[in-house]
Amino acid sequence: MTSCPNCYKTMTTQAVDVYASTRPVEIDACLACRLFWFDQWESTRLVPRAVLSLFQYIGSATGQTPTPLASRFNCARCHNALDFTRDLQRTTAFTYWRCSLGHGRLISFNQFLREKNFIRTPSPAELARLRATVKQIACSQCGGPIDLATDSACSHCGAPIAMIDPDSVATAIHALTSPQSGGPPSSNANATRQALSDAQIDALFDQERMRERAGHNDLLVIGAEAIGALVSAFLRSR
Ligand SMILES: [Zn+2]
Ligand SMILES: [Zn+2]
Ligand SMILES: [Zn+2]
Repeated sequence: MTSCPNCYKTMTTQAVDVYASTRPVEIDACLACRLFWFDQWESTRLVPRAVLSLFQYIGSATGQTPTPLASRFNCARCHNALDFTRDLQRTTAFTYWRCSLGHGRLISFNQFLREKNFIRTPSPAELARLRATVKQIACSQCGGPIDLATDSACSHCGAPIAMIDPDSVATAIHALTSPQSGGPPSSNANATRQALSDAQIDALFDQERMRERAGHNDLLVIGAEAIGALVSAFLRSR
């Protein structure tokens, strides 16, 4: 049983597949705080399918106001203070907190999606549509309000507005469904890409939904909810 390093409640466990093991591992998560705790190297050993399977879990935070994060945390195992760490995955910067004794790391849903390269900034056209749909969204990083009319980044923490990249998700699914293909994406893959893109865009631009959540529209969580359902269907169909 692992206590959340932010709210101290018991974390839930998600069983996922990892490389170099026939047994799934259980990673710890706190939905209220939107945090994952990964023991040792669990995070880097996640197979692509495992990362995809976490989308639905992340999406289940939709509509809830996240518990604010403390500025420092203690290790879930040894209780020493965790070190704030900046890292780079290809060209994407992301951050987490790690135990200097190597017990593991704490990472937010948002930074996890960033680490796995599943995030991009909205295009100017998407931003224009968002502005027409909703005035204010919640920062995926700090939960603070972002005024879409004037800002393209959070004025509290500086994080740019971000959404899930349906192309990255479709590419990951395609890699799972045809591991040996190195050629151009099949029409099937294009259909997947389109379906994932449509699902997220529909969710983000669903005015009723966005208004209901007044003030707590976190684009990443809403996108993860929409995409997560489709991803699960794809994974189940195999
Ligand atoms: Zn928590
Ligand atoms: Zn530790
Ligand atoms: Zn922020």
